[in-house]
Amino acid sequence: MIEQVLPNIFLIKIPLPENPLRILNSYLIKDPDRNLLIDTGFNLEACQVAMDKALFDLGVSMKETDLFITHLHTDHSGLVQHLFRPGDTVWMGKDDALVFEANMRENVFINTAGQLLQRSGLLLDGAPNCPQEEATAKYADRACVPITVVLDGDILSKGGYTWRAVATPGHTAGHMCLYEAEHKILIAGDHILDKITPNIGLWSFQYDPLGQYLPSLDKIAALDVELVLPGHRNLITDMRGRIREIKEHHGRRLQDVLQALGEDKKTTVQVARRIPWDLSYKHWDEFPLNQKMHACAEALAHLYHLVVRGQLIMSEEEGVLYFQAAPDGGVIQQAGE
Ligand SMILES: [Zn+2]
Repeated sequence: MIEQVLPNIFLIKIPLPENPLRILNSYLIKDPDRNLLIDTGFNLEACQVAMDKALFDLGVSMKETDLFITHLHTDHSGLVQHLFRPGDTVWMGKDDALVFEANMRENVFINTAGQLLQRSGLLLDGAPNCPQEEATAKYADRACVPITVVLDGDILSKGGYTWRAVATPGHTAGHMCLYEAEHKILIAGDHILDKITPNIGLWSFQYDPLGQYLPSLDKIAALDVELVLPGHRNLITDMRGRIREIKEHHGRRLQDVLQALGEDKKTTVQVARRIPWDLSYKHWDEFPLNQKMHACAEALAHLYHLVVRGQLIMSEEEGVLYFQAAPDGGVIQQAGE
């Protein structure tokens, strides 16, 4: 389904079958020189068919269209290989491009999922050790296309608009938005969404994703924006109001995690079991493994942020991470000593 949102800017709704996000918002910016397509949908037939039809209906050829991928998640990047034509430029933020390119050589998503199963305590909790089936990798595209890294401040002139790339790490480390100052538009990827809170999950220990995300929200709040074009759900007009709500959510989540942790040393799963989840299942044990993994990644992001802030101590036993309140919320120590 296609909707014109502004002159030369079209919203293409790509269905995401069996996914709670339901739809990916892809945006096409028509330009007499070269068009720009932002985000793609999964590497699934339903997404391919919807995208091909929309491009056909818009009279757009991928030979004359470059791609801008806000971040590497497969609902945004899955069709890159399918859409790419020789000579096209595919832009992506640096940290995401590194993972995306590494995934061409080895299945990074499966390795990462396997580590999460172990570290979070999910295996101790009875989860099967089969990350292959549960990793979102199945919708990934083992793309062999050249990626052009886009840096904070880079300018793309498309459709009569001047877009400035804004690095917004958090949802992923290389997440990028596009800002148009004159018309006060922000193409936001999954940095800000209406109704749903962008998932902030920790899948590796190279970053403190929540520690990156909160300043990235402030960075965007400082921009003059009247219309946000997000990666899912409705367009947003009150950007600062939405940012306030998202920040409040994470403040509450940090409190939930601290409360669930209590006095004892706990694994991520033990914490995740004790905090509320906005899902239709009655009990943690009913969550499908994929949901448990995402819940653990989210709990872990909040736990790790509290470790970085010095409020918790993290230790490791046989590959499983344990968290405990720091004495007086203070100095970081090695637990288990
Ligand atoms: Zn998304």
